[in-house]
Amino acid sequence: MNFSRPTLASRAVPAPSFGQSAASAPHSDTVAFQHPQPAAENRLEVRLSDERINNRVRELAGEINRTFTDSDPLVVLGVMKGALVFTSDLIKQLNMPCQLELVTLSSYGNGDTSSGRVNGSLDHLPDLSGRDVLIVEDILDTGHTLTHLTGALKDRYPEMNQLKTAVLLDKPERRETPFEADFTGFTVANEFLVGRGLDYQGLYRNLPDVAVLKGTTH
Ligand code: 5GP
Ligand code: MG
Repeated sequence: MNFSRPTLASRAVPAPSFGQSAASAPHSDTVAFQHPQPAAENRLEVRLSDERINNRVRELAGEINRTFTDSDPLVVLGVMKGALVFTSDLIKQLNMPCQLELVTLSSYGNGDTSSGRVNGSLDHLPDLSGRDVLIVEDILDTGHTLTHLTGALKDRYPEMNQLKTAVLLDKPERRETPFEADFTGFTVANEFLVGRGLDYQGLYRNLPDVAVLKGTTH
């Protein structure tokens, strides 16, 4: 299914009703992407297309497959909510046994300015001693989230085997604490991005492209 670029045109796609046969169900290849009309000063400009991201995710998965050859299973730890889409895209391309775990962490408030604080709990995780763990994150920005998370995991599970990080995006200009990911999709400029899991005030996560939301500041 292709999502069209963000458009203000609304096109209703009727949902199949129960009992309808697949053959007669209404079908559309293109679903209009509907989102609240951005204010005139908050325009979306695509920076990374869906196709470009898909190709790069495939390459990253190849690197990860070559790195974790003996993991059985590899613990893939997705950082919610931003990395939900990237995690889902990535695990489909991994060819070793994978165990999916999620943590909900945030260093951002409800807007687009970093709080510098990282909130969230690891209490629900299984014992990661002796395990290979790949943290999957949407974007490496100031570095606080991944510094905090890797530190907390190592403190909790000093016997963890390999711990590596994969990020879809890296914004090195914004770094406040030194951190480098092991696998990086794209290095991006210092702009506030949405789409592909990244939100602005809870919205735009379902945009398949990565776009810049003009009119927002860090
Ligand atoms: P860090 O702790 O490295 O500053 O930030 C990591 C988190 O900040 C990311 O997981 C993401 O949730 C959020 N973030 C950083 N830059 C952006 C951005 O350009 N757009 C959005 N939507 N979130 C961002
Ligand atoms: Mg995040």
